[in-house]
Amino acid sequence: MKKISIIIPAYNEEKNIIPIYKEIAKAFDILEAGYIHEIFFINDGSVDTTAGEIKKLVQKDKMVKYIEFSRNFGKEMATSAGLNHCSGDACIMIDADSQHPAELISEFIKKWEQGFEVVIGVRKKSKSDSWPKKLGSQIFYKILNKISDIEVVPGSTDFRLLDRKVINEFNRFTETNRMTRGLIDWLGFKRSFIYFEADDRLNGTANYGFWELVKLAMVGFVSLSFFPLKLAGYFGVLISSLSGIAGLYILIGKYIFHLKFASTFSDAENLAIFIVFLVGIILTFLGLISLYIANIHSEVVNRPMYVVREKEI
Ligand code: UDP
Ligand code: MG
Repeated sequence: MKKISIIIPAYNEEKNIIPIYKEIAKAFDILEAGYIHEIFFINDGSVDTTAGEIKKLVQKDKMVKYIEFSRNFGKEMATSAGLNHCSGDACIMIDADSQHPAELISEFIKKWEQGFEVVIGVRKKSKSDSWPKKLGSQIFYKILNKISDIEVVPGSTDFRLLDRKVINEFNRFTETNRMTRGLIDWLGFKRSFIYFEADDRLNGTANYGFWELVKLAMVGFVSLSFFPLKLAGYFGVLISSLSGIAGLYILIGKYIFHLKFASTFSDAENLAIFIVFLVGIILTFLGLISLYIANIHSEVVNRPMYVVREKEI
């Protein structure tokens, strides 16, 4: 019997706990025999009756497990806790608000049986999303794919199946500023995709507003790419080169070739060009310092140097 762990982060989801539980039970009912499952709720410091709802289920069904955080730590930490504690041969992370259709669980498992180690739910479109959210996520994926080495499919969500191998590797991460799906993408492994349409949230309002998503995006950029850090350096080189060329042109033009055009620049203008040149030098060295900071960063997060899928030694 293979065991599937369903990981559900929940923050103020009192009205959604029972429905999602039922949806998951139904999904496993129609699945052919051969699978057992556990449902792992992570109560992320909810201030409503979410804890009580989960405990009711725990008493009724011994397949239901839960962790309760001492306060709200955010979804990334909640899913990480679920991955740290689940015991299945594979896990599926799913939102508590029924925006991730539980009936797709069988498809996820099918892909897993075909040998895929990471199955990623990709959302086609969401009726409930506001246009800043949509535009923001589009920009986020564009930039992330440009500046980082990992390949992220636009629209990919946290609705994912992970094989035990991937869970074990994920559990080696020690960094605290994390974007769960970014780290999973960083790990690699054999990946497949399932497309779905996100329905409206069942009850309550989304906990992740626009600014929370912006913050998460920044965590994604900073943890998956050093490009933002190097930006100052690139700017510096650009500014210094341009102003250097301009300055040289004016100097040589004025004093050696006695060009009329070069002589029209006033002293103030020449000084401005010189100052811009110096600012560029400062930025260039800031960029050099950034390289060292980048090194420190990668040593501090202590991410594994490489990830092994299988070994026989
Ligand atoms: N969530 C959480 N901690 C938080 C915020 C959200 O565990 O601080 C959970 C929430 O209960 C839900 C999932 O993360 O199961 C997705 O949250 P939400 O629906 O607010 O975000 P969105 O659908 O906009 O991604
Ligand atoms: Mg939601």
